[in-house]
Amino acid sequence: MATTDAVVIGSGPNGLVAANLLVDAGWSVVVLEEQQTPGGAVHSDSSVADGYVHDTFSSFYPLAAGSPTICGLRLEEHGLEWVHAPSVVAHSFPDGRWGVLHRDRGETAAGLEEQAAGDGDAWLALCDTWDRVGDAVITSLLSPFPPVRGGAGMARHVLRAGGLEMVRQMIMPARTLTERLFRGEAARMLVAGNAAHADISFESPGSGAMGLLLVLLGQTVGFPVPRGGAGQLSGAMVRRLESKGGQVVLGERAEGVRVEGGRAVAVRTASREITVGRAVLADVSAPALYGGLVSWEQLPSRLRHRMGRFEWDPSTVKVDWALDGPVPWTNAPQAAPGTVHIGDSLDDVTLSGSQVAAGLVPERPFMLVGQMGVADPSRVPPSGGEALWAYTHVPQQVRGDAAAGRDDVREVRGTWDEGDLEAMAERMEARIESRAPGFRDRITARRVLGPHQLESMDRNLVGGAINGGTANLQQQLIFRPVAGSGRPETPVKGLYLASASAHPGGGVHGACGANAARAALWHDKTRNLWRRT
Ligand SMILES: Cc1cc2nc3c(=O)[nH]c(=O)nc-3n(C[C@H](O)[C@H](O)[C@H](O)COP(=O)(O)OP(=O)(O)OC[C@H]3O[C@@H](n4cnc5c(N)ncnc54)[C@H](O)[C@@H]3O)c2cc1C
Repeated sequence: MATTDAVVIGSGPNGLVAANLLVDAGWSVVVLEEQQTPGGAVHSDSSVADGYVHDTFSSFYPLAAGSPTICGLRLEEHGLEWVHAPSVVAHSFPDGRWGVLHRDRGETAAGLEEQAAGDGDAWLALCDTWDRVGDAVITSLLSPFPPVRGGAGMARHVLRAGGLEMVRQMIMPARTLTERLFRGEAARMLVAGNAAHADISFESPGSGAMGLLLVLLGQTVGFPVPRGGAGQLSGAMVRRLESKGGQVVLGERAEGVRVEGGRAVAVRTASREITVGRAVLADVSAPALYGGLVSWEQLPSRLRHRMGRFEWDPSTVKVDWALDGPVPWTNAPQAAPGTVHIGDSLDDVTLSGSQVAAGLVPERPFMLVGQMGVADPSRVPPSGGEALWAYTHVPQQVRGDAAAGRDDVREVRGTWDEGDLEAMAERMEARIESRAPGFRDRITARRVLGPHQLESMDRNLVGGAINGGTANLQQQLIFRPVAGSGRPETPVKGLYLASASAHPGGGVHGACGANAARAALWHDKTRNLWRRT
């Protein structure tokens, strides 16, 4: 029977960050990963077309570049190289205008000023506030909630440095926030488009926070990508872990956690049981942990009751294309952006999100687009081309198609069979074609990943949900994953929730894993002190 200090279940970014922090503290660690490759939703592959590297799931990593924990791992010493597109992110409007976030804030401001007088200064003022409080905001957001020790200190620093107004802005709905801050659509959509990375509507509190966080990180650390593909980020974390004695076991699924006397003592797989001396850290979704890996008999009945109200985030359809040349955008910005947002206006994106909320496949989906060859030319053949992707959200339970009845659009039924995926991909292609006439002629290969495919490649992406549960306020902070949590501890001693289902939620920042590892180390220390006295 194998024995180790800790088992980490799942090798997503949170699992790998947790495992790295534990080996740093001298623990023996085994990471169990069901798939044949590590990294969870941080993975790349070349199966769309020869010579092209596509990120299978996530692509841009402002949250990793802004995360003190991931930066502290010094992954550059383990082969990671961050690279950047000429400009960070841009919003494409139907009339050919663009809102562009440049690497340089002065250039961003100049572009926004050109479109609406006053927006340049408003942008620079926002950046100034972020300079004073940004680090503290990030540390507070990434710490366990409610913030004790370091987190509380940071919160005080934010308030002292004049960050109260920024905190107020962050609570605002993205629509209110952007309409108050800016006069022009370009600046408004730059912020709001980033808010649309989460499933919070522009009219709900919390969407402003998501928009500001991403856009201001974009202005300060950029939207970097690992040279060679997203898998290089996971690869660097695995190499670091293994160089310090940690072990990653691929193709072995954890099937249960054995609990004795209220403490996690072993992890069961199909072929063995691994005895755990100190802790189990679960980089799995909350519903997969509670009532799944740990049976309800071992858990308080109130948790079962609360988990009954757990809310997933919407589902996702992602399309990857190999192109034989760049996307022929109308009026393409001179400094090409790595990320492009497609939505006509605040109202248009609100409508698309409302259709998803109402169970309808959106008629004109808001789309996030990644130009990976622009960001990292090593991902496309030397002769040129583009490794492009776009994803959009669709309902978890489809009740209908908002485009039903239109002659020019194929209806999506919501079974997400091949026909549905083709129809959805065509709808998304039409949206890009409207901004980039001739785009379709450049497609040489295509792959469509719908809810079933996403979940089969990473079981945390339940029904195509990408964030481990809704990012709406009712399931954030002390309500994540259920009311009364916010910290990685579970009702079972020595067992910690380390995935995006825990506070602070989705995105590649590693904070859920780091919080779990730090909690495990802290409890182990106090347990040992208690034993010695
Ligand atoms: C299409 C898509 C695009 C995204 N884009 C971005 C982006 O650009 N930037 C960004 O910051 N974030 C992005 N995200 C979100 C981000 O990728 C996730 O929030 C993040 O990967 C969550 O990390 P995690 O470690 O919690 O879980 P995951 O990355 O999902 O990893 C979980 C791992 O656990 C394994 N596992 C689960 N159960 C078991 C078990 N019982 N036994 C063994 N192994 C198990 C899974 O196989 C998987 O490898 C995107 C996500 C998706 C799906």
